[in-house]
Amino acid sequence: MKSAFEAAQFYFEEAASVIGLSDSLRDLLVTPEREIKVQVPIKRDNGQIATFIGYRMQHNSARGPMKGGLRYHHEVNADEVLALASLMTWKTAVVDIPYGGAKGGISVNTKDLSTDELERLTRRFVDEIHDLFGPDKDIPAPDMGTNAQTMAWIMNQYEKFHGFAPACVTGKPVELYGAEGREEATGRGVGTLTLAFLRKFGRSIENSTVAIQGFGNVGSFTASYLHQAGGKVIAISDVSGGILNRDGIDIPAALEYVAVNKSLAGFPGGQPVSNETVLSIDVDVLIPAALGNVLTEQNAGDVRARYIIEAANGPTTPEADAIFRQREIPVLPDILANAGGVTVSYFEWVQNQQYFRWDISRVREELEKYMTRAFHRVWTIAAERHVSLRTAAYILAIGRVSRATELGGI
Ligand code: GLU
Repeated sequence: MKSAFEAAQFYFEEAASVIGLSDSLRDLLVTPEREIKVQVPIKRDNGQIATFIGYRMQHNSARGPMKGGLRYHHEVNADEVLALASLMTWKTAVVDIPYGGAKGGISVNTKDLSTDELERLTRRFVDEIHDLFGPDKDIPAPDMGTNAQTMAWIMNQYEKFHGFAPACVTGKPVELYGAEGREEATGRGVGTLTLAFLRKFGRSIENSTVAIQGFGNVGSFTASYLHQAGGKVIAISDVSGGILNRDGIDIPAALEYVAVNKSLAGFPGGQPVSNETVLSIDVDVLIPAALGNVLTEQNAGDVRARYIIEAANGPTTPEADAIFRQREIPVLPDILANAGGVTVSYFEWVQNQQYFRWDISRVREELEKYMTRAFHRVWTIAAERHVSLRTAAYILAIGRVSRATELGGI
């Protein structure tokens, strides 16, 4: 299996070949602008010192300040963060928001740390990198293992060095310059495009069944959106395992259960199944919404879904992608499907720069506009060039980034 960065590069190269991108631009666009790796020591609650490694990979800034989430997860490593940073460059270009791409992460199991320890970890990380990010340089946001509270700590710590600067980070609490609708944005974007995607095949959500792997920020808001739109969500899962109910899961009940119990384990609204089983259920729409590299050469042949929507970043390995193409299972790629989060991050940053607040209906309306416009562009490119939606999304993104690079010069 390829490394995460090799996989991301594979998709890039595929599209670069279709459009005949020059070797010199290829070299430039796969080379990250800056790779940051720092020691992040903290004092544990018990007085001991614990040392973590923090990363911020700044892939490309041809189209604007770099943008991307910050992930706290025990599997975080340099290669993965770099891969995710490059995905952000293409994602911001696909939806045409004025950013480049970056990603950060700390290799840590958040369950091992208290809230105070997480705060110290976050502030110490900011101490190490505060000169290298900021409103016009690189703007972090939530990702796996981080949330609005983490962003509030980042803003507060950053401002100790640089003064008032709410636009230095997005996905903040609404009480602290966060945008209404940012929390739901990724799931809402996934839901919006799932409906648009199904319509292209002459289908509707009301007549479709859905399986979602992951019930965190992305999976849960996606489930809610599709449930409300009339879809039958028959399987959901989180790290504790999955739940299957062929009559349709009561999603509001599942959300309430998770709010109280912190996980789906023991949820009575269906029969327990493994996380792996969720991927191979006989269903119309499969939505991986958690970790990367879950659809692989080993299990792609077992997938019985008719359509795949990539709500996670990098859920499909190139080997699995080839199998889905051969089996004619259309895949809506991550850099388009999950771009709703960063799109509303952009709206938050715009509001912060203008000291002005939009109401939720404006956020939702603009989100829909950005997502559907990108979707139709990608669909048209795929049809015109007879390529997959993933290759089409990369063609659109690479075209935008390389034109900006050529116009701006080096
Ligand atoms: N972490 C999210 C992503 O992967 C959001 C990034 C952002 O809002 O900057 O797209």
